[in-house]
Amino acid sequence: MRPVAAGRTITRNTPDTSSMALIVQKYGGTSVGSVDRIENVAKKVIGYRGQGHDVVVVVSAMSGETDRLIGLAKAIDPRPNPRELDVLISTGEQVTIALLCMALEKHGQPARSYTGAQVRILTDSAFTKARILAIDGENIRSDLAQGRVVVVAGFQGVDEDNNITTLGRGGSDTTGVALAAALKADECQIFTDVDGVYTTDPRIEPRARRLDRITFEEMLEMASLGSKVLQIRSVEFAGKYNVPLRVLSTFQEGNGTLITLEDENMEAALISGIAFSKDEAQITVTGVPDRPGIAFGILGAVSDANIEVDMIVQNIGRDGTTDFTFTVHRNDFERALEIVQGKAVELGAREVNGDRKIVKVSLVGVGMRSHAGIASRMFQALAREGINIRMISTSEIKISVVIDEKYLELGVRTLHEAFQLDQAPAA
Ligand code: ASP
Ligand code: MG
Repeated sequence: MRPVAAGRTITRNTPDTSSMALIVQKYGGTSVGSVDRIENVAKKVIGYRGQGHDVVVVVSAMSGETDRLIGLAKAIDPRPNPRELDVLISTGEQVTIALLCMALEKHGQPARSYTGAQVRILTDSAFTKARILAIDGENIRSDLAQGRVVVVAGFQGVDEDNNITTLGRGGSDTTGVALAAALKADECQIFTDVDGVYTTDPRIEPRARRLDRITFEEMLEMASLGSKVLQIRSVEFAGKYNVPLRVLSTFQEGNGTLITLEDENMEAALISGIAFSKDEAQITVTGVPDRPGIAFGILGAVSDANIEVDMIVQNIGRDGTTDFTFTVHRNDFERALEIVQGKAVELGAREVNGDRKIVKVSLVGVGMRSHAGIASRMFQALAREGINIRMISTSEIKISVVIDEKYLELGVRTLHEAFQLDQAPAA
């Protein structure tokens, strides 16, 4: 086993598991959902130790526990004091770190648990959604050097004034990545109940294929477009610090999906996956006077109400008026519609329409950057199935279309087929 020294530099683009020195492993709620499962995690960790790796483990609360704690708080006050809420909900992870260490010790593996505050995972003071500012890895390094496995409570930290903070739902992923970055780990492994990242949701397209690799950028698009495998912030963090991130199953053998920077040896996939989001709604304002300040007049009011606007389309003006369409989250639809109706009267627009039965389907792939014609292939495939496209937006590595909700499944399957995503790309 190689000693892990502070500030060691590692080539992290090509993790070589045979000589790996330091791994941070995160186990999610279902993976530690019972005493038996915690024992199973202990055995897995001991297995990795047996291969010569130093292991730092980050755990979530047992499945359902965080929800249960939030329920208790809300039974007292529907809007509990955020500082106290964090004191409460951070306890779930404290239970699992202790139990996992007991299990490790029982099997002869020295281990030590730490809460976020004990490590000193320093965060800002935004209770229930704090951001990590700095991590002191000293005690962890010294424990590792003494042959211990270190088990850290996910999802929590401490602010400058020693208040306990939490990082937002799913925040243990971010704890794992942040620790991996701070300790300059060779890899951060996220163990969960799925065996990797898929080309699309297998519940919609059973021929969806597990990806061996995907880039941070693509994963961010997939995650923000509704594939909920990882907390988005953890992917941003991993990309920023170039921490190779691997998603793999706790319950099944396999290499999972590695999320890394793009490199030349990467499988030559044009498209990595199809993401979709069902929670969309569309608002159209027609006959808006075509003059400066109109977009601001409409969208400014929407954003002042803290409603996030996604796609925006404005037509070329004709006869002094123009049309304006945008999408919002379905939960915000009624509120946004009301605001826009008010604004439309003020601005002298002709009409406001809304539709909450729309979805967004997106092709994601870094290969798009260097290949033309992807968009037309996409539109052609949808047209062949008679799927009408209502809106289109593109970025460097993504093409999104808004279509009627009833075409979601057909649309996803059609595109999966058209881009042959069920087949591994030729190397
Ligand atoms: N236990 C927290 C949650 O349920 C954090 C996590 O599991 O990542 O959101
Ligand atoms: Mg999670």
